[in-house]
Amino acid sequence: MCQSYRVPCTCDQNIAEIFFGKCVLNETAIEEVYCPQCSRNIDTECDSRVWDNGWVLELNMDAVRQSAGSMGISSQEVTADWVFDEGYATWVGITPDDTERRNQERAKIQKLAKTDVRAYYEAMKAWGLNREKRFSEQGWRKMGGHM
Ligand SMILES: [Zn+2]
Repeated sequence: MCQSYRVPCTCDQNIAEIFFGKCVLNETAIEEVYCPQCSRNIDTECDSRVWDNGWVLELNMDAVRQSAGSMGISSQEVTADWVFDEGYATWVGITPDDTERRNQERAKIQKLAKTDVRAYYEAMKAWGLNREKRFSEQGWRKMGGHM
């Protein structure tokens, strides 16, 4: 089982949860994480940075290139964007803080289950649909919004 890895961003206001697909990479492949607040002043042209709705995952490309063979790509061809989009170093959820927010939102709805089970099921259904719609509209990479 690949473990997720929680990384505070450079301004320490937020935490991203990173997942390493197929356990090829590990935390040594992560250089920095920037949240929308601390990514404002960084260079957008940098090849080792993956941008996702203001969040930035900066990879250690030396570590990434060393593992390129295990990911089925050559070390000349591998890019930070590719690594993210293929899931070798990516958010655990759709967004960097998805797990935490999802748990909070779900906990709120689950209170309903004690008083009104039907309303609870309806709310859970609507919540799932709205979440996807919201992520699509916001244009997260995992929703295909970066194309
Ligand atoms: Zn930050």
